[in-house]
Amino acid sequence: MDQDLYKSRSEILEFFTSHGLLVTREALDLILKSNTGPLINRLITSEVLQSGYVTVDGIRSILNVPMDSSDRKYEIYLPDIRVRSSAEDFRGYFVSRYQKLKKILSTSSAMRGTVDIPTLKKPGFEAREVRIVGMVTESGITKNGHKRLVVEDLEDSIEVILMKNKKSFDEIILEDEVVGIVGGLSSKGDRRTIFANEIVRPDIPFRVIDEEKADPVYLASISDIHVGSRTFRKSEFTSMLKWINASDTDSSRLKYLVLSGDVVDGIGVYPGQDSDLEILDPMEQYGKLAEYVNQVPEDISVFIMPGNHDIVRLAEPQPVLPDELRKLFNDNVVLLPNPYTLDLEGKKVLIYHGMSLNDMVELIPGLNFSTIGKAVEELLRRRHLAPKYGGKTPLIPSNNDFHVIEEVPDIFITGHVHSHAIGNYKGVRYVNSSTWQSQTEYQRMMNFSPNPSMLTLFDLKSRSTVIKDFKS
Ligand code: FE
Ligand code: ZN
Repeated sequence: MDQDLYKSRSEILEFFTSHGLLVTREALDLILKSNTGPLINRLITSEVLQSGYVTVDGIRSILNVPMDSSDRKYEIYLPDIRVRSSAEDFRGYFVSRYQKLKKILSTSSAMRGTVDIPTLKKPGFEAREVRIVGMVTESGITKNGHKRLVVEDLEDSIEVILMKNKKSFDEIILEDEVVGIVGGLSSKGDRRTIFANEIVRPDIPFRVIDEEKADPVYLASISDIHVGSRTFRKSEFTSMLKWINASDTDSSRLKYLVLSGDVVDGIGVYPGQDSDLEILDPMEQYGKLAEYVNQVPEDISVFIMPGNHDIVRLAEPQPVLPDELRKLFNDNVVLLPNPYTLDLEGKKVLIYHGMSLNDMVELIPGLNFSTIGKAVEELLRRRHLAPKYGGKTPLIPSNNDFHVIEEVPDIFITGHVHSHAIGNYKGVRYVNSSTWQSQTEYQRMMNFSPNPSMLTLFDLKSRSTVIKDFKS
């Protein structure tokens, strides 16, 4: 039979049927679209015959069909929120936060037998030890030096004391955090107080993490590129792009590239920014960024998230960059909101620009920008990307708190503070993803000392993480 005949759907179908093979519709579409009809004889391998099926994966591995953009449609979920916030929105927001975190806390064995606050307050209620889940609405020190909290559930509130001689005293508890409390109940007349023995965090559960026996598939993470700034490190960024395009073993295994916010420097972000800018017009900054990003090979998916320097609204969750900017980029570029969780090769990749890291450094004693990994871990422990409401992180209250870390991520990517730190917290690999900008005068004032020009590679098939430093 003439090979050129295998061009129509029916001919290809007939060919496979005559070999006793079933072909999936996606596989058939792929053959037609990639014009590999004349090559289908090569699909008749012993593996394929044994399985009885012709699938997309089979075709890719045998015929080397390149990925194209239409196969890589990522359905990006956009948070639907109103920007006008009423008292009702605030209530809805905190209810959502409470319920999501309570659900996570209830899976912990330490929280078995949780009661709600109204139950504790019923006359005649007695228990040696009580367990509640509450949102911290007040926190202070008593005149005897103990910690005093007021915590609320959906119906009522109660006072909680952390005695200074107990271990639980050392816990750093932020306002608006949702925690589990285990302690003794004391009653004085109508007044009820819990003397806490233990504070339980939603935290990351211990898990067994499988490693597949497979060649590495890399996800690369970069952040805070700040194109348009006078201190944007052009030559290092260019050599990074050159590396991506090279036939180096690591770079050829690169399939995904994440840009986690502040992709351009923007304008009017901080006082006196004009004098730090090489490109004043933000649209031109994005144009320049697109020139760089479009050099990334089409078979690598590029994800772009906004940060506080980008032109979308500052309050989180931040929407994706506007449509008119979408047009500047190649088809392999996918725009993300901030925060966002991607599912790549069966791995959950949580990406957050990282504005709340400023608050964490301020609120948690002992943390600073050079130990930023610890701040990242404190977010994971609290299963929340912005535990304190209304600090330096503007949030839009809606009926859904998008900052709760509902699913345990495999990889957690943040940026914003321009340092570089990688780590592994209970099986969650994380990075604070460096920058491609040198220190500006303003950053010097703010005590930001960047560690620029680093690219981090996460192998999606194993637990390994590789750092590439492009500093010259
Ligand atoms: Fe930045
Ligand atoms: Zn930022």
